[in-house]
Amino acid sequence: MTKLLNILLSQIRQTGPITIADYMKTCLLHPNYGYYSKQDPFGANGDFITSPEISQMFGELLGLCLAQNWIDQGMKPFALVEAGPGRGTLMIDILHATKLIPEFHQNMTIHLIEESIELQKIQKEKLSGFRAQWHTSIHTIPNKAPYFIANEFFDALPIRQFKRAAKCWEEILIGEKNGKLVFYLGNKIPLYSIPHHIENTKIGDVVETCIAAKPIIAVLSDRIKNYGGCAIIVDYGDDDLVGNTFQAVKNHKKINTLKLPGDSDLTAHVDFKELTRDISEILVTKTTPQGILLDRLGINDRTKKLTSHIPDYQKTIHDAALRRLTHPSEMGSLFKAIALYPSASFAPAGFDL
Ligand code: SAH
Repeated sequence: MTKLLNILLSQIRQTGPITIADYMKTCLLHPNYGYYSKQDPFGANGDFITSPEISQMFGELLGLCLAQNWIDQGMKPFALVEAGPGRGTLMIDILHATKLIPEFHQNMTIHLIEESIELQKIQKEKLSGFRAQWHTSIHTIPNKAPYFIANEFFDALPIRQFKRAAKCWEEILIGEKNGKLVFYLGNKIPLYSIPHHIENTKIGDVVETCIAAKPIIAVLSDRIKNYGGCAIIVDYGDDDLVGNTFQAVKNHKKINTLKLPGDSDLTAHVDFKELTRDISEILVTKTTPQGILLDRLGINDRTKKLTSHIPDYQKTIHDAALRRLTHPSEMGSLFKAIALYPSASFAPAGFDL
C-alpha cells in the first residue's frame, strides 16, 4: 500500500469521507508524496504530454500574441506571469520568441506561480539565463499590468462533484470500504447553491464546481481592470459543462481515479463560461478551439519556416507536431482558449468577442 493511500485512509477513518477537492489537492500537491511534488510527469516518457512539450511553436505564437497586445496597450512596464509552468518550456519559448522585441524584455519582470518545489527546481534551471521570481499563489504578483498565460493549469485545480436529486444536490465524496477508497454519496445541499445548473440538469446528472479557480480569476481581472494587461488561458474543456469529467492518467492512459493516489495525474475539464462568470468591467473573449487559435496566429507559416532548410526526417517531426496541436481529432478542438483584456482595449490576436 502506498504511503499516500495510508494517509488518505487514516484521514477518512478519523474525520469521515473527504471531498474530491481534498483528494485532488492531497494527491497532486502533498509536500512529500504528491504527484507534482515528487516527479517530472511531462513528455513522451512521462504520463502525459502538453502542447508546449510537443512543439516550440505553441509558446512562440502565444508569446508573440502577448507581445502584440502589450504593444497595442502602449508598451508600459508589466509583469509576465505564468501559472503552473511545469518544466518551464512554455515560458522559455515565450522569452526566446519575444527577444525580437527588446522593449518587451526591458519593461518586464517575470513571475512563475508554482506550488511544487520539485518543479520549481526544474523551472529555475531552465530559466537560469533570466531574472525571474517564483510565487506559490497569484496574490503576490506585483501591482502592475499582468501579461498572464496558463496552459493546463486550471484543470489541475481541485473540483467538487454534485449529483442532482429531486430537491437537492448530493455531494460525491470519497470514503473507505475494506481498506479501499470508494465513492460515497453524502452532504445534501439546496439546489439554489449551484444556480447555473438548475435549468440544464435532470435527476441523476453530475456537475462540477471549482472554487479554487475563482480567487485566481478575481485577482487577475482586478489587476487587468486597474493596470491593463491581458490573460490567455488554454485548457481542455468547454462552456456550460454537465457531467463527470474527473479523470486520472498514468502512462498516457486513463485509469480509475481512486486507483493510484499520488502516482497518477488527476484533472477535470475546465468550464470556461463558469470560470469567468463573475467577471465584470473587463472583457472575456469567446471560447476558441486551440486549432483555430493557432491557425489564426500563423502556425502553418511557422511550420513552413521551421522546415524550410532541414532534412526530411526532421520535417516530419514539425509536421506531426502541427497536426497534433491543431487537428480536431487530436488537440485542436478538445483544447480551447479564452482571453481576458481591458474594456477600452483590443482583444489579443486570434481571439474575438
Ligand atoms: N503548463 C505546463 C504544465 C501543466 S501541469 C505545461 O503546459 O506543460 C500543471 C502545473 O500546475 C504543474 O506545474 C503543477 O505543479 C502546477 N500546479 C498545480 N496545482 C497548482 C496550484 N494549486 N498552485 C500552483 N501550481 C499548481
